Amino acid sequence: MTDKFRERMADEQVRHDTRTLGDFVGIYCGGNHTDSGRLAIESDAATLGVYGRKPPVMCAECAEHLRYAEKRRAYCPKDPKPFCAHCDTHCYNPEERAWQQQMMRYSGPRSMFHGHAIDGIKHALEARKYRKQAGKPGAREEVQ
Ligand SMILES: [Zn+2]
Repeated sequence: MTDKFRERMADEQVRHDTRTLGDFVGIYCGGNHTDSGRLAIESDAATLGVYGRKPPVMCAECAEHLRYAEKRRAYCPKDPKPFCAHCDTHCYNPEERAWQQQMMRYSGPRSMFHGHAIDGIKHALEARKYRKQAGKPGAREEVQ
């Protein structure tokens, strides 16, 4: 773990985003990978206590994706960070980006039942604003 990572993870917003991401991956894995052995995430962020006393539970593959995402969040150069889906800096590699998109499509709507209603609503509002600015009505996954 680098000093930079440790330093960034001390920021409340970074911790919040990382915790939310962890919960999303946990929801996704819990709904799709029940055949895999699933354990509480072991990662640098978990070591720093970002996930609290009950880190999200997931399979080895999802844990690998989350560890990647933790680093991307920690090293995000934007402040305030936009939602990744609307960011013009593509810091994710294409495979990770595709994985995260399908993970979010699954977990986003379901996260409402896991105490992330506020984040979900903010996300929807920002998506709407972004589409207006970009002048392209109706992104594909939006159902009105
Ligand atoms: Zn999984």
